[in-house]
Amino acid sequence: GTTGTDAATDRSAALQERAARVIPGGVNSPVRAFGSVGGTPRFLVSGTGPCVTDADGNEYVDLVAAWGPALLGHAHPPVIDAVQRAAAAGLGFGASAPGEAELAEKIIARVPAVERLRLVSTGTEATMTAIRLARGATGRPLLIKFAGHYHGHSDGLLAEAGSGLATLSLPGSAGVTPETAGQTLVLPYNDLAALEAVFAEHGDRIAGIIAEAAACNMGVLPPEPGFTAAMIELAHRHGALVILDEVLTGFRASAAGYWGIESAGVADGVQPDLFTFGKVVGGGLPLAAVGGRVELMEQLAPLGPVYQAGTLSGNPVAVAAGLATLRGADDAAYARLSAASERLSGAVGAALSTAGVPHRVQRAGTLFSVLFGDFAEAPRTYAEVQRQEAFRYRAFFHAMLDGGVNLPPSAFEAWFVTAAHDDAALSRIEEVLPAAAAAAAAA
Ligand code: PMP
Repeated sequence: GTTGTDAATDRSAALQERAARVIPGGVNSPVRAFGSVGGTPRFLVSGTGPCVTDADGNEYVDLVAAWGPALLGHAHPPVIDAVQRAAAAGLGFGASAPGEAELAEKIIARVPAVERLRLVSTGTEATMTAIRLARGATGRPLLIKFAGHYHGHSDGLLAEAGSGLATLSLPGSAGVTPETAGQTLVLPYNDLAALEAVFAEHGDRIAGIIAEAAACNMGVLPPEPGFTAAMIELAHRHGALVILDEVLTGFRASAAGYWGIESAGVADGVQPDLFTFGKVVGGGLPLAAVGGRVELMEQLAPLGPVYQAGTLSGNPVAVAAGLATLRGADDAAYARLSAASERLSGAVGAALSTAGVPHRVQRAGTLFSVLFGDFAEAPRTYAEVQRQEAFRYRAFFHAMLDGGVNLPPSAFEAWFVTAAHDDAALSRIEEVLPAAAAAAAAA
């Protein structure tokens, strides 16, 4: 059981101290350090279904889901079985293996605008490759991104990015040259006029726009209806390409990602040119992908002049995890995800309202997050969500953690349910909500 007292985190605290002596900040990815919420980062040692267990033996109902990949729940038996069988056959040979095409086929079947796909190992690599392709295909240098959107940590994409940079309020990163930073134009999200102005001024030098399909790295902030389609039409009028980043939303926001929801109401010819996927497609192992129209994708080596490669690309163990996850991600799984997301977001909203805490629940398909503070109108931009009362999230987060619920350790992240969040798991979360809402009210 979870006590939430200091004594219950002794082992995590000791492990963090030890890690900090050899690993910067004790972490291999910044948000894990609990920098913005404070307290002892929990060292997690196992997970089953909707729950994770820390080094002190505390169990938590998990709302991080490994930051997205654990769509079916932790240690989902068919996924673990597929991984064990793949691993027993050898961890990879640096030659092609049969599962790679099967995984590509499964992804292509879900996203009609993707005709060819290449597997890589991380979302960062996927977006990096997509951008190189956009530049290679257009022969143009400039890239547009939106403030608060996160596309991984490659040099050109750290300008006003979400995720850990939003959590730590960083405008960018040291070590990025002004020349590189200057090739990224950062615009406010959901602002078609700003896009039009930039295209009017630099149109013939813009290779493309990269956007999260729905922004989920500054909390959840979906595009306004019609924005993504209008952005695509504008880019295409100027000969520029659109990269839709579905690393986080892909096969999670819906069976076909967030564009799968949006594209239903859009004319056939209006499609992004390139897509990036990650997280769910690797089922928890390092795997991501870049895909798009055939004539663009065939610009990649060995067919074309745009180079991209990877020792671990299409690794058979990762491919096995991805395949098993997509196989399990059937209509019934999405129905469970959707029901869990609705019930939980409703319960959080109700608890906060009862406690008199101003807030707003933000949604993008099965993804959601909660903004603390007065948001009478739906926020549209990063600047608007930066007004949120993160100090209330901090109090809420710790009350939830003490009560046995693991939330993202930052107000600027999406909350992730899994298809394994059953009535028992959701009820456990609901039991903790009144105390957490009271803590947020008192903060
Ligand atoms: N794009 C988006 C939308 C993401 O959410 C992330 C990671 N959170 C990335 C790219 C980068 O992926 P990775 O961390 O695997 O490099």
